[in-house]
Amino acid sequence: MNMKEYINEAESVLLHTYNRYPIVWDRGDGMYLYDIEGKKYLDFVAGIAVFALGYNNQAYNDALKAQIDKVIHTSNYYYNIPAIEAAKKLKKVSGMDRVFFTNSGAEAVEGVLKAARKYAFLRDGHTDHEIVAMNHSFHGRTMGALSVTGNAQYREAFEPLIGNIRFADFNDFESVASAVTDKTCAIIFETVQGEGGIYPATKEFLQQVRTLCDKKDILLILDEIQCGMGRTGTMFAWQRYGIKPDLMASAKAIGCGVPVGAFMMTQKVANHSLTSGDHGTTYGGNPLACTAISQVIDLFEQQNILENVEKTGAYLYETLENIAAKHEYVKEHRGIGLMQGLECNGSVGEIIQRAIQKGLLLINAGPNIIRFIPPLIAGREDVDAMAKILDECLSEKQNTCFMERIE
Ligand SMILES: *Cc1c(COP(=O)(O)O)cnc(C)c1O
Repeated sequence: MNMKEYINEAESVLLHTYNRYPIVWDRGDGMYLYDIEGKKYLDFVAGIAVFALGYNNQAYNDALKAQIDKVIHTSNYYYNIPAIEAAKKLKKVSGMDRVFFTNSGAEAVEGVLKAARKYAFLRDGHTDHEIVAMNHSFHGRTMGALSVTGNAQYREAFEPLIGNIRFADFNDFESVASAVTDKTCAIIFETVQGEGGIYPATKEFLQQVRTLCDKKDILLILDEIQCGMGRTGTMFAWQRYGIKPDLMASAKAIGCGVPVGAFMMTQKVANHSLTSGDHGTTYGGNPLACTAISQVIDLFEQQNILENVEKTGAYLYETLENIAAKHEYVKEHRGIGLMQGLECNGSVGEIIQRAIQKGLLLINAGPNIIRFIPPLIAGREDVDAMAKILDECLSEKQNTCFMERIE
C-alpha cells in the first residue's frame, strides 16, 4: 500500500480526534525521521518533546531488548530492580525524596492532585479544599488533569470536572495571591508553559509563589512533563530558579519513547499524604518502562546532554532572534534551552505545512506560535539546516500575504 492508501485506512478505523499531517512514518535515526516512501525529515518536534536522545539510540535500544527477554511486567505487588534503579536515579537528579511511577503525564498530574488533597485532608479533616491553576495551562486530558487545564476549548464539553479549582494568570503574582483562600491546598503550574505558547515562569513570580506557599502551608506543584528532563539545560526547569517544589510531575522525555511518567515529592509530603491503599496502577513502574528511565538518565550523563542543550539552545536563541528581526510576520521570540517559540501575527499552519514539504518537522503551540522542541542531541548544523528552511517558508508567507493584499 502507498501512503495515501494507509492514510485512508487510518481514517476509516481510528477515532478522528487529531487532524494529522499526511505522513506515515517508517523509521527514525538521530535527528531524522523517514516516511514509508523514503523521504527524510529533520525533526524539531521529537514526538512532542519526547525523543530527547534522538531516534535509534543503540545503547537505549539494547537495554530495552535485554529487559524484554527477561520480563516486561510483574505488577506492583512485588519489587523489581529496574524500578528501584530508576527511582534512585530520579531522586538523585531531582533532589526530591519519593517517586511514584505512572504510564503517562496526565496520570502523573492525577497523582499530584490526589496527594495534595490528601495532605490537606490529613491536616484538617475537611473535604472542601481548593487548588489554584493557571489560565492557558495544559496538564493533560484525563478528567482531573483537565480540571486544572486553563483552556475552555479543551474543557467545556466535559464539565462538570473536579470542583474547587480557581484559575489565575501565569506570571502575575497578584492574580495568584488573590485566588488563594483559607481553603487552598495547592498551586499548580508548568515551569515553562508548553501548549499554552512557550512562556517561561519569571524568577520573581516563582519565588513569590514559593514564599506564599511556605507562609500558608500550600503545596507548590510544578508540571515538568514538557519542560523537564534537560529541555531547558538543567535536568528540571525549576532548578534554574533557586526554588524547589513540594510535588512535581514528569513524563515525556523521561522515557524517551516508552510510555512512562512519574510524580515525585518531598519527604514532608510523603509522610503526610498518600499511603497504602490510596493510589495504584497496574502498569506503572513496570520493568520495561523503568529500564527506559534508568537508561535515559545514564545516557544523559554519558552523552553530556545538558551541556549540549546549553550550547545548542543558545545558538538556537541567537538564530531565532535573527529570524524574528528579519521577518515582519514574526511578532515575538521566547523560550529557554531547546524549548523555544516564535509567536507570529497570524496562523502558522501554512508555514508548518510548507516546512514539512521541504523536509522539516515543526509543530505549533496554539494557532499563532511555532514551537521548537528538537531532540536534545541537536547541534549547530541542525539549527542551521532548520533555520534555512524556516527562513524560506517565512519569506514565502510574506510574499503570499503581500499578494493577498494587492489582489
Ligand atoms: C504532554 C503534557 C501533559 C500530558 O501528558 P500525557 O503523557 O499526554 O498524558 C501534561 N502536562 C504537560 C505540560 C504536557 O506537556
